[in-house]
Amino acid sequence: MLVFNVLTLSGRAAVTDLDPSLIKSHAYVDGVWVGADDGRRFDVLDPATGGLIASVPDLGATETRRAIDAAEAAWNPWRQRTAKDRAAVMMAWHDLIMAHQDALARLLSAEQGKPLAEAMGEISYGASFISWFAEEGKRAYGDLIPTTASDRRLLVMKQPIGVVAAVTPWNFPMAMITRKCAPALAAGCPVVVKPAEDTPLSALALAELAHRAGLPKGLFNIVTTRQPAAVGGEMTGNAKVRKLSFTGSTRVGKLLMAQCAETVKKVSLELGGNAPFIVFDDCDLDAAVAGALASKYRNSGQTCICTNRFLVQAGIYEDFAVKLAEKAAAMAVGHALSGVVQQGPLINAAAVAKVAAHVADAVSKGARVLTGGRPHALGGGFWQPTVLADVTPAMLCFREETFGPVAPLLRFETEAEAIALANASEFGLAGYFYSRDVARVFRVAEALECGMVGVNESLISNEVAPFGGIKESGLGREGSKYGLDDFMETKYVCIGGL
Ligand code: NAD
Repeated sequence: MLVFNVLTLSGRAAVTDLDPSLIKSHAYVDGVWVGADDGRRFDVLDPATGGLIASVPDLGATETRRAIDAAEAAWNPWRQRTAKDRAAVMMAWHDLIMAHQDALARLLSAEQGKPLAEAMGEISYGASFISWFAEEGKRAYGDLIPTTASDRRLLVMKQPIGVVAAVTPWNFPMAMITRKCAPALAAGCPVVVKPAEDTPLSALALAELAHRAGLPKGLFNIVTTRQPAAVGGEMTGNAKVRKLSFTGSTRVGKLLMAQCAETVKKVSLELGGNAPFIVFDDCDLDAAVAGALASKYRNSGQTCICTNRFLVQAGIYEDFAVKLAEKAAAMAVGHALSGVVQQGPLINAAAVAKVAAHVADAVSKGARVLTGGRPHALGGGFWQPTVLADVTPAMLCFREETFGPVAPLLRFETEAEAIALANASEFGLAGYFYSRDVARVFRVAEALECGMVGVNESLISNEVAPFGGIKESGLGREGSKYGLDDFMETKYVCIGGL
């Protein structure tokens, strides 16, 4: 382990232990570490300190085309291997990732800012998709359909779709890649990944371990860039790419979907959310507060399924507000690698500006700050864990994804009112509610317009369940048996003359 000193912009020093063999300074194309044709590079910074961690190549459309060509060349040999054979290579990759969990988590925390415990969790969560899909690839069953004529047989077979382009966000720099690449590889598809420009190092470390695991060249390519439009344009315009899998904002998702129309690619989109969290009078209050904390403040509120709006029934409103504010105020805020920390920094200055704007808007329209509401004394990307009371639907924090550690509370009277408020959004990713009334549990779970519902539970993601949204939160599902289908075509074969 290298002890790596980062001198911060503010003069403070943070010390992080990073494994130098996992810090790559080149992109990964066709099994080889490469630079940009024109030699351009960009810096990767620690969001807590502004300190330089490393620099990576800034690839463009030409290098992306090369990666797509390499992926296409790798496709046939890979799809012709048995699912069991593909699973063995994937499991070797999985095992190396878990053997390096600590080192990968440190790198992830350094470039993304989430507390080390959360980063450790992301590595095992991300790896779980690899082991799960390695097995699930063996169950890509077809069908034999009862025939309509005695001299015919009707078959359905599942086949890998072809070259996959994956565009991923910075908030889960490791797991968003494996959640796409594991089902793709298991289905028999090669992948070209464009990681977010703020967090390319976790992607490159994954490539290093894939290389060591013996994943054949061309199957897993990492195109680092800070020219997303150029790389995205090549990915969506290139006819060799048969599927685009995107996780990020709704704005960019819509743009890429439109770009994919030209070559009629299959598209999966995991986009923004505006998750409601409904607290009914009949709930277990302490459980609801604990669930609220986990759902709101993990990853500093920068998770697409983080609660964005708390809807609290009148009879329990004051008690819930007081308890949540107390717990939020007591959270340990600090550098991800500096000990027991529950909340790290936001990813960059733009993220801080958005949180500040949402809080200012809410306060100007009558919201009360119960705790926080200001930049944290640590400066930089740090923001105080915040609870706002008396929020109304007219406020930005109700309508838009704040993507920060701000908990806005709205009071409601009836179940019907809560459902109407929860569904008053163009988004439909996750929703949560706390209640001990069994009939209500079914009624509300069915009525919420979202792809995922947590009932008396706020941590709902895992590899075996389908993750995804409805409305403008996306298309398709990741993880689970449904996730494999997104990387396969369904082919019908009619055999006649029997
Ligand atoms: P973003 O849309 O700005 O960026 C996501 C990715 O798209 C990045 O890799 C970025 O470089 C790339 N990109 C940007 N412009 C592009 C273009 N013109 N062509 C091709 N690629 C382009 O989003 P973000 O700020 O990185 O991520 C936060 C958003 O992602 C939030 O809205 C969050 O809810 C969403 N998200 C959703 C899920 C989910 O599963 N639904 C998971 C994580 C994050």
